[in-house]
Amino acid sequence: MSTPVNVVVTGAAGQIGYALLFRIASGAMLGPDTPVNLRLLEIPQAVKAAEGTAMELNDCAFPLLANIDIYDDATKAFDGANIGLLVGARPRGPGMERADLLEANGAIFKPQGEAINAGAADDIKVLVVGNPANTNALIAQANAPDVPKERFTAMTRLDHNRAIAQLAEKTGATVSDITNMAIWGNHSPTMFPDLYNAKVKGQNAFEAVGSDLDWYRETYQPTVGKRGAAIIDARGASSAASAASAAIDHIHDWVLGTPEGDWVSMAIPSDGSYGVAEGIISSFPVTCSGGEYSIVQGLEIPEFAQEKIDATVAELVGERDAVKGLGLV
Ligand code: NDP
Repeated sequence: MSTPVNVVVTGAAGQIGYALLFRIASGAMLGPDTPVNLRLLEIPQAVKAAEGTAMELNDCAFPLLANIDIYDDATKAFDGANIGLLVGARPRGPGMERADLLEANGAIFKPQGEAINAGAADDIKVLVVGNPANTNALIAQANAPDVPKERFTAMTRLDHNRAIAQLAEKTGATVSDITNMAIWGNHSPTMFPDLYNAKVKGQNAFEAVGSDLDWYRETYQPTVGKRGAAIIDARGASSAASAASAAIDHIHDWVLGTPEGDWVSMAIPSDGSYGVAEGIISSFPVTCSGGEYSIVQGLEIPEFAQEKIDATVAELVGERDAVKGLGLV
């Protein structure tokens, strides 16, 4: 058995943390041969709840779970970390403006970026789940100047998985019949699920839905984009298990690779591909191999798709400019 991988989970006592930790410890994220040390980071008021979760993790007797530590200090938690799942974030409160939200999250993600810079392992990989995820990732990245920029990513895999599930339902296919799905842009209702390059049983997905642009525009995109709100409405609580599952998928594929001929969606620092403003953390179709990802190049982007991508990218540029104005990046 190899040396355990140090995995930090922030917001570990929250809903997503509760759904995430057990799957990491079971081997779902890094595979059946990789033991893990779990490091649970929480704010002081939530440390006791994290201790309860740790007790339950112990009670599962997971063979791959080498150790659990609980922290309320980011510098200690990230010392020697190989993987960081940044889940804890400040939700938007009543009457809170966007600038207040960004500022409150800056107070969380700036010190976490500094802690990663100070002590994380050379191979650190970071996934930000806490919203606004793309911009929180940008804040952490900007405050970790010694860490390669590409190690900071944000989660659009839940949008990706939702886009696959909705397309399967529409076409009567199974989710495993669907390949080459891509989400572009921000993890927000403006994200764009790309049916022009996705495939259903090898057939172009847009053609598989009868080239129905009205359905694409009026039903499909809003259903995927507003799925989180629909779940809150039905369940009376926000999605947690599906978000945790998507986080597992994101890290799994980044570390262990994407299947031949397929790709996944990750929000990553833009290199300017497809005209996406360089430097923002935007979702692209990527392939992963050997622990690194690369943007899929040469895809056809029809006019409708380009307009949608431009709009979601503009939203991200607006968020970037706002956090720049606050001195956070
Ligand atoms: P959750 O575990 O439900 O959510 C955590 C974050 O994930 C939120 O920012 C949430 O965004 C985001 N998120 C991203 N995608 C999704 C999705 N599809 N569905 C739902 N959420 C999504 O929140 P809890 O309130 O249960 O727990 C948060 C925990 O974080 C608390 O225990 C708190 O103490 C902790 N915390 C820890 C910090 C730290 O470690 N330094 C800092 C701040 C908080 P959205 O709000 O938009 O739903």
